[in-house]
Amino acid sequence: MGLVKPARQIASLSVDFLVIGAGIAGLACAIALRRVGHRVVVLEKHDSITKATGGCRMPPNLSKILFHWGLEKELRKISLKSQGIALNLFETGELLGEHIWDEELLRESRGEFVFAHHADLRQLLYDTALSCGATIHLNTTVAAVEPEACRVRLSTGEVLEADVIVGADGPSGLSRQLFDQGESVHRMNMYSATIPKELIVQDEDLSFVYDGILRSMFAWFGDGRSVLGFPAGGKADFALFIYCPKDGNEGSWEEIAPLSAMQEVLETAEPRLKKLGKLAQSPTCIAFKEVPDLDDWVHESGPLVLVGEAANPLPPGSIQEAALAIEDGAVLGKLFSHLHSRSQIRSLLYAFHEIRHDRCSRVTKKEIGDIQFMCLPPGDYQQMRDDVMRAKRDAGKDVLDSDADTGEEEEKGKGVGSAEWAEIVDVFGYDAEDDADNWWVMWGLLRERAREDVDIAPCNVMTEQVVEFEQALAVVDSEA
Ligand SMILES: Cc1cc2nc3c(=O)[nH]c(=O)nc-3n(C[C@H](O)[C@H](O)[C@H](O)COP(=O)(O)OP(=O)(O)OC[C@H]3O[C@@H](n4cnc5c(N)ncnc54)[C@H](O)[C@@H]3O)c2cc1C
Repeated sequence: MGLVKPARQIASLSVDFLVIGAGIAGLACAIALRRVGHRVVVLEKHDSITKATGGCRMPPNLSKILFHWGLEKELRKISLKSQGIALNLFETGELLGEHIWDEELLRESRGEFVFAHHADLRQLLYDTALSCGATIHLNTTVAAVEPEACRVRLSTGEVLEADVIVGADGPSGLSRQLFDQGESVHRMNMYSATIPKELIVQDEDLSFVYDGILRSMFAWFGDGRSVLGFPAGGKADFALFIYCPKDGNEGSWEEIAPLSAMQEVLETAEPRLKKLGKLAQSPTCIAFKEVPDLDDWVHESGPLVLVGEAANPLPPGSIQEAALAIEDGAVLGKLFSHLHSRSQIRSLLYAFHEIRHDRCSRVTKKEIGDIQFMCLPPGDYQQMRDDVMRAKRDAGKDVLDSDADTGEEEEKGKGVGSAEWAEIVDVFGYDAEDDADNWWVMWGLLRERAREDVDIAPCNVMTEQVVEFEQALAVVDSEA
């Protein structure tokens, strides 16, 4: 098993998975499926996976999965532990308050909040996937996906078949295009860039990013724009995510955007941010699009399942961007650890959608809400946001703590209060693998018993009786 710990439950039937895309989601699926004994081939159009890009925030719900897979030591080598966040105003630099992550909460979550370079996380997953026996073909572009025949056609004309196709090719990949996507709305742009640590520490106005709350994260709230900054792992270079109005420069994570355009966004910013913008290198500019939820993540005509951002695109730079992708892999692996007959495949793919859809949708709404909250235009809400934080700061409290302590009224969605904190606890405390195990105990075993009753011959489609049973369960679920 190379770098990873083998899973406790191994599938009694091994099948073939074709994973399209060696991003975070595709590689996480490859590791999770190999851990439970399946054969996995990953197809990636680029000839390398180590393109240096920006920073990546890894919340406890992500790190706990990697710890569980046995990658704690490897993750620590590439990451820095975050201890808290400092919240400032974009235009004036006023410190609205600080929040130190609650040690007890983090202990209970069994994870840690860490920062790394995106490329280092991807490299770790790539090395791990290879070490546990996944086959990864780089420089291999999928030109067509045929779910009904469970095969893909490469740009070279070669055809590859499998028992399951995992569409991990991102928000604008081919797999998602096979589903009814609806209209997306382009809300804002986000610039991502990094600054070498040695340039920052030479400037006494900027060296604060490496003191204060040790290895902290910084947010600057502005009028229609906001900035997040944090020291990424490795050499602790400082990563910036800058949200701003659409400006026509949006490309992808792989294309360099004009530095001058990014610096223009910081024209109205406090002097320290402007200075950081001047030192930044090779920015990328990605559109933040709000997309309607897909009704299904499993194709109606064959065993093609969407994962990661192909299933559920998030705003670029979100805390949960990489985390949801790794949770997807963890859940898929757990579910397919119970495979003993091909007739279960479709049912397990639907279970994946059932488990993941609500979680991803809830988390995505929160991520979008957080960006809007940081970019509030001047007005009553912005005033209330700032005043609530100032009151906590002046009372010597952590800004994200419960309002009950300061006697303020909790106003969900308008202020920063216990509801906000409860949401953070819910998101960070979530354990994807436990959720998949719970689903299996509550529903999977029940379905197994029904399956035994209807005596299914091993085949790739569900029998009518099982379809009826699944529909009956769906009615029970929706009434519950
Ligand atoms: C190159 C790159 C750099 C990134 N850098 C950062 C960063 O610095 N910070 C950050 O927070 N987020 C970054 N992201 C975004 C982040 O990885 C994702 O938002 C999140 O982790 C979910 O990833 P995903 O695997 O679902 O999708 P993606 O990350 O979009 O991965 C999809 C993969 O599929 C491959 N692919 C697409 N179409 C095909 C095809 N037809 N055939 C074969 N392969 C195909 C792509 O090349 C890509 O490797 C980056 C993404 C990419 C692709």
